[in-house]
Amino acid sequence: MALNGNFLTFKEKKLVVATHNNGKLTEIKNLLKDIEVEVFSSTGLNLPIPKENGSTFEENAIIKSSQTTIQSGYASISDDSGLMIDALNGAPGIYSADWAGDDRDFNKAIKKIEYLMRDKNDFSAKMICVLCLTWSDKRFKLFRGEMKGKIQLPPRGTKGFGYDPIFIPSIQPLDNKLLTYGEIEPEFKNLNSHRNFAFNKLLDYITDER
Ligand code: IMP
Repeated sequence: MALNGNFLTFKEKKLVVATHNNGKLTEIKNLLKDIEVEVFSSTGLNLPIPKENGSTFEENAIIKSSQTTIQSGYASISDDSGLMIDALNGAPGIYSADWAGDDRDFNKAIKKIEYLMRDKNDFSAKMICVLCLTWSDKRFKLFRGEMKGKIQLPPRGTKGFGYDPIFIPSIQPLDNKLLTYGEIEPEFKNLNSHRNFAFNKLLDYITDER
């Protein structure tokens, strides 16, 4: 990667965002906006949904990115992420998407959390994001970001996706109000999120690499 005016020029000409999740795709495309590279998505390329059978965020991120690069022939970036709730011993964790069922209905997942949290006093939680960047020659590198926070029940806000309406991040846009990710403007979340923290590490790495 090289600095070229306001753009960062990635050595790879094409990059696939290895996801079928529109919320993630929007956020990752936004993070990539200053990188001079042609961006595709797994959905756009009609790639199959990989089986995420790893036992950690890291393993799942590697599975998604390596399969995408093998299938497309291009460099790829994957994101394995989720919500970890302390009082539920880190659940839903790597099963964050599964809790929403095959139809990815997050009202269902949130209802399950409401039920499991009904007798809990500790609402501490964190959002995790592990990014895997795989170069077209199959080299790969992992980058992890975390955002600490608290669970908000009942859910609030319609911005964002997934568990955003029940997560109050520790970094907030206002001094006098605690907002969920679902109430925070996407512009603020994009600069202050578990995904952005992981992405900044990725940028540092590829900038050092040039
Ligand atoms: P996976 O990484 O594809 O296994 O899916 C992780 C799931 O965690 C997503 O489907 C989201 O519901 C949830 N998740 C990950 N990042 C976020 C976020 O930034 N906000 C809300 N939910 C998220």
